[in-house]
Amino acid sequence: MTNPRESAEDLSRRSLLRLGLLAGVAGVSTLAGAIPAQIATAATPDIAHGSRSIPNVALTFHGAGSKALAQKLLAILKSTQTPATVFAVGAWLKADNSIAKEILDSGHDLGNHTMNHLQSKTLSATKLDSEIAGCAKELITLTGSHGKFFRPSGTQYSTALIRKTALKYGYKKCISYDVDSHDYQDVGKAAVVKNVMTSVRNGSIISLHFGHQDTIDALPTLITDLHDKGLTPVTLSTMLGTIK
Ligand SMILES: [Zn+2]
Repeated sequence: MTNPRESAEDLSRRSLLRLGLLAGVAGVSTLAGAIPAQIATAATPDIAHGSRSIPNVALTFHGAGSKALAQKLLAILKSTQTPATVFAVGAWLKADNSIAKEILDSGHDLGNHTMNHLQSKTLSATKLDSEIAGCAKELITLTGSHGKFFRPSGTQYSTALIRKTALKYGYKKCISYDVDSHDYQDVGKAAVVKNVMTSVRNGSIISLHFGHQDTIDALPTLITDLHDKGLTPVTLSTMLGTIK
């Protein structure tokens, strides 16, 4: 069965290709701290949510797309004082070498979402290694850190090879999510809000994307509705514990 997310993510990859943003990669290795193992669910070794007894949620964004849309989204997060987590595509960071620092300076978490946003599950071990290493290297170059978290591209869940390779570069757990806004499918503002609000609960990790107007249109309402439901958006490091 075709995973609609993978299809959409493949479209994102083709967009990057059109923009000529696919770049070469190089190896790098550093270490991250531990993430509480108990947060990994029984169904997957990935972290798909935080504590179900604490009314926090994490807005996690795929970091790619146009700079103008990124700036609009960051402005909404700033004006609403909403902390978030951005899983950045390395080629996107490289194309605009000020965005990584801007995200961190705004108090958000910044993580690795591979160098070129290829289909992580389908890559050879060598190619997967270079994709994770390339983004880690870009993060280190731009921010001095390889980032706190890793999310594979083109798949909601990791594979054993993805986990092994991520660990090599210091990412002890892969970050999945339990709430999908489907914003990458351009479903419209109302649907983005509804997709989140119908399934969000304590500890939810919500999948969202930079680079889509619907996300920007939905975000103010979404943030208000989350607060109205008693849920507070926090960074992943707040939800899961500090990762050095
Ligand atoms: Zn993505």
